[in-house]
Amino acid sequence: MSTRMQPLYVLSGNSERTRGGDAQSSNIRAGKAVASAVRTTLGPRGMDKMLVDSSGNVVVTNDGATILEEMDIEHPAAQMIVEVAQTQEDSVGDGTTTASVLTGELLAYAEDLLDDDLHPTVIVEGYNEAARLAQEAIDEQVLDVELDDDVLASVAESSMTGKGTGDVTADVLAHHVVDAVRAVHDGSGRFDPDDVRILTRTGASSSATELVEGVVIDKERVNDGMPRTVEDAAVAVLTTKLDVREGEADTEYTISSVDQLEAAIEAEDAELRGYADALADAGVDVLFCTKKIADRVQDRLAKHGIVAFESLKSSDARAIARATGAKQLGDVTDLEAADFGHAERVSIRRFGEDELTFVEGGEAAKTVTLLLRGGTEHVVDELERAINDAVDVTVAAIDSGGVVPGAGATEVAIAEYVRSHAGGVEGRKQLAVEAFADAVEAIPRTLATNTGMDPIDAVVELRSTFDREGIAGIISEGRTGTIGDPIEAGVFDPAAVKREAVTAATEAATMIVRIDDVIAAK
Ligand code: ADP
Ligand code: MG
Repeated sequence: MSTRMQPLYVLSGNSERTRGGDAQSSNIRAGKAVASAVRTTLGPRGMDKMLVDSSGNVVVTNDGATILEEMDIEHPAAQMIVEVAQTQEDSVGDGTTTASVLTGELLAYAEDLLDDDLHPTVIVEGYNEAARLAQEAIDEQVLDVELDDDVLASVAESSMTGKGTGDVTADVLAHHVVDAVRAVHDGSGRFDPDDVRILTRTGASSSATELVEGVVIDKERVNDGMPRTVEDAAVAVLTTKLDVREGEADTEYTISSVDQLEAAIEAEDAELRGYADALADAGVDVLFCTKKIADRVQDRLAKHGIVAFESLKSSDARAIARATGAKQLGDVTDLEAADFGHAERVSIRRFGEDELTFVEGGEAAKTVTLLLRGGTEHVVDELERAINDAVDVTVAAIDSGGVVPGAGATEVAIAEYVRSHAGGVEGRKQLAVEAFADAVEAIPRTLATNTGMDPIDAVVELRSTFDREGIAGIISEGRTGTIGDPIEAGVFDPAAVKREAVTAATEAATMIVRIDDVIAAK
């Protein structure tokens, strides 16, 4: 009896399988390719990318996370780098390019080590060991400075440099950002991102950007007869429409005569008037409604001198409720004064073509709005991304332990620290630890390249300056750069950005290196 071995199919015929070295090198290549796509945007002299999607929409940006998100990446390993950028964006809000470039470099060095027959698990162990050393080095780099407004503004500014900010300097914006964060966050308690709102408006140059203490919404009054300004305002926030209840007209009245029709209309009118009267009786001055307000209700509200807004975005309604202390009400029966919020002033102001509504001096919570201006949508969009990063790093610096020197100096220090401890690591793992140090140095190397310097000369000089002075970064100056002290130049990054970049990059790179089998559905 011949027992012929039957092939064992565990995969459907519809999947494709890549194994061993092939899988590794294809993953590594994909990862490196993605990282190098964002490399040229790093730092103050970084370039922008223009991304055009299949329907022709254009995004011009310098923001690593945005670029990767818009690139529509399909390769699964490349997708992991996109996730690194997203993790970085979600957890600290900045450093996305740094984290992506670092991941790409860790992969590139891993490829060399694999070629030298280092086992993937040895590389993974070495990288993890080195990442632990890197965190120690970052701790040592945290500056012993008081986080006053100037230092925070420097942090905010260095997160924005290289991003297009129109005709306003990053320095001016940085102060707006610090004022905004300081207004709502004193470092105790949790920072609520909703407290710093951003509203963009084209039609003026970006230097017209301003900080408003309050909530600004992109809405006009429903009726021109309503007041433009209300001081000391009782504010109601409503999440239901003010209109005749659906179905009522046809189910409850069967209309067969003119009299009946008039009676029906009168009943409707009375219902609608009743809404406005109830609000007026309860003492409401300003009504924000997330749904429609019927014309007849609008007219009646106007007669009562109440200012009303309809079809608010729910995020706007939430912000107003939060700032003024108003409850979000589901109907207008049984209104009570305790349900209303309070604001020092609600006013409507003209901005170019249209009008914006300002709710200032809310009694419940401090909320500020950065009103960003720019000539075109592309300018304000990029400005918004820059400001978002700046708000995040300012909060990160206040919340989670301080700032480190920027401009590549912290990475130089990490590389030196890791290298100097590599000797203590046994066996071939040491090679991976050293490779990690070289990979981290890619950040200053890339900053140097993007600044128009020779990267190899720059690294040599960075190392020797670091040996001598204990600190060395790439200070960009006009069209080129010099090696110098970022603290003197006022370039700081939050320590949290570096910590997260090291963690996220190491996790992704080691995960990719460990894969030796790719099974993909066709
Ligand atoms: P990321 O997405 O990683 O934040 P950026 O393009 O914002 O990328 O570049 C951040 C890097 O640029 C950081 O290492 C930061 O220290 C550095 N940097 C910022 N401002 C300056 C400056 N004026 N001179 C040199 N380096 C700077
Ligand atoms: Mg940045």
